[in-house]
Formats: sequence, structure tokens, C-alpha cells
Amino acid sequence: MTAHDSLADTTDRSTDRDVIFEVRNTSVTFDMERGESRVMDNVSLDIYRDEILGVVGESGSGKSMFASALLDAVVRPGKLTGEITYYPEEGEKIDLLDLNERELKRLRWEEISMVFQGAMSSFNPTMKIRKHFEETLDAHGQDRETGLDHARELLSDLYLEPERVLDSYPHELSGGMQQRALIALSLVLKPSVLVMDEPTAALDLLMQRSILTLLENLQEKYDLTVVFITHDLPLVAGLANRLAVMYAFEFVEIGPSDEIVRNAAHPYTRALLKAVPNLDAPLDEMRPIEGSAPDPVNVPTGCTYHPRCPLATNECVQNDPDYYDITVDHQAACHHWEKSFEEIPYSVSSATDGDAEVESE
Ligand code: SF4
Repeated sequence: MTAHDSLADTTDRSTDRDVIFEVRNTSVTFDMERGESRVMDNVSLDIYRDEILGVVGESGSGKSMFASALLDAVVRPGKLTGEITYYPEEGEKIDLLDLNERELKRLRWEEISMVFQGAMSSFNPTMKIRKHFEETLDAHGQDRETGLDHARELLSDLYLEPERVLDSYPHELSGGMQQRALIALSLVLKPSVLVMDEPTAALDLLMQRSILTLLENLQEKYDLTVVFITHDLPLVAGLANRLAVMYAFEFVEIGPSDEIVRNAAHPYTRALLKAVPNLDAPLDEMRPIEGSAPDPVNVPTGCTYHPRCPLATNECVQNDPDYYDITVDHQAACHHWEKSFEEIPYSVSSATDGDAEVESE
């Protein structure tokens, strides 16, 4: 059993996979009257080229802040510190936090694109969808005709009728169609990375699932790296290659999706999964975990989960746990992870790979 200060130590060592994002010691703080509010706490993580990474956490865990940090788009007066390095397919590495506004704007659409929840607020209601594509292409000096051809291809990849959608105003499309049109728009400049923050949360379950299937196809066809941020672990488990679980503004567990779902090592992840009767139920329909998420101005000492953790000891109250290797590519920040298998049992019926009941160890 080996412990590491950060996930970066473990990802550097355990794999020679091609890293596209290197996040190191990254924090986001806000100065508030009652003290400093830390909404991302010294996070270090590698994201691999062409992977789908699911970032999972309850509301207020810091997961959306992580999305904003990846694009250096933290809203003021938030302060982003640390290092975020982007490695393009070709050319020199880019230190995101050193870029000026103009360079960031280019990077944000052409290399790293982002889709938020609620397409309606992303579209201008007075403009047809076609105009949104044209303005984006113009702003980045791209040829309109070539760009619109690519837009048509993307729209049909997303099972939309291209001309009908391009000639519509946003309100003439259903919520699911708008969200798919927004995904097409985010990809029109052929970025390598798509960051999605709760992109399907406003949609019904059927539409959520079908968008995920389409997303999987797009990822393969265009060699995309996808960072999918959600409160809904069951939803993303079948899509993502890896899951990273956030609690109290830091990652507490990361590993391959199957491994996390079947064999979670952190008591918080196990508590999340314990309350899921099967993977068809979203987290917000689950029994909540007792206690409440920490106040960012007043985060507990030691392991931030200790006030809610059934396995907490004095060591947990005093010492912030390092990351422990569960397997070569699975890490959890918990002093007592070995006990969690027995003491926090759960069973899941995996919707991702068949209907078999899987008993966790
Ligand atoms: S370190 Fe202690 S309090 Fe934190 S999750 Fe592990 S057992 Fe629970």
C-alpha cells in the first residue's frame, strides 16, 4: 500500500498515457467578509488525451469550479492559482494561466470548448441557429461555407435535420434539440477537448441517455477528450472511461468507471453508491448521506469527510489523508479504505454492462 500527496504523483507514475491536461496545485478562493472561501482546494490531476472523464460530486462540491478552472474562466472576484498546462496534439505546451484575454478566447473555442446546462440561455433568442454558427466562424476567422458544411455534418451526427435546425429560432426547438444544437455549435471549430457541465440535467431521462450515446459516437469519430461534469454518477458511469469523485472541493477518489462502481474504496463514494438501489436511479433521487456538505469558509480539519464518516478515527480528525493506491490506476484519499469494503457494503445493478446484480467486496 503506497500513499501519495497528490493524484498527479500516481498518474505520472502508473501510466505512460498521453496527457492532454496537467492540473497542479490548483485552488480557487473568494475573499468573503467572514473569511476566505476555498471552493477548489489544491487539486492536482492529469486528464488523458481521448478519454471521457466523469467528474462527479454533489451540488457545492466544487465540480463546476473545476470546469471553469480548465478554461481559466473562474468568475471574478474568484482567484485561481496553481498551474494548468494544456498539451495540444501538435506544438508547444500552453500554460493556461499565463495567457492574455485574446489568446484565451482563441483557445476556448478552437482547442477547448464548453457546454453548460440549459441551452436556452446559451442561445440568443432573437437569432436563428444558423446565425450562431456564422458568428462563431466569423469571430475566429474561419471560412463560413466550409464551417457550415462541418456544422451540417455535426448536426446530422446528433440526429438532427441540419437545414431545419439551422433555419429555426432557438424557441422553435425542443429542449433536447437545443442541447444537441449547442453541442454541434461547441464542436464547429474542431476543438480537441469538450468540457460539459451538467449538459443534460434539464432533460428527461430518455433524452439524457440518448444524448450520452450520441456523445460517445462523437468522441470516437472526432477523437475528442471529454470532461463530463455531473451530480449523477449512475448517468455518467456507463459513458466515462474514468470517474473522479469530488467532495469538499477536492478529489477523494479516481479510477476506471467499472472499478469505481463495483469496488469503490472511499467511504464517501461507497455511501453514494450504497444509497442507489440500482444504477438507473440518479443521485438526487437517493437517500441523502447523513450530515451536510462542508461550508467552504469553515472546512473540517484532517479529512474533510470525517464529520459524516462512519469509519472516522482521531487520525482522520487530525491528518488530511494522502492518496492510496487501490490498484495501479485507482486511488482514494482515505486512511482506512481497506476497512470500507467490509464496513460500508453496497450492491449495484449495473445498467452499463448488463442486468446482473453485482455484490461489492
Ligand atoms: S480518512 Fe477517515 S474520515 Fe476520511 S474517509 Fe477515510 S475513514 Fe473516513
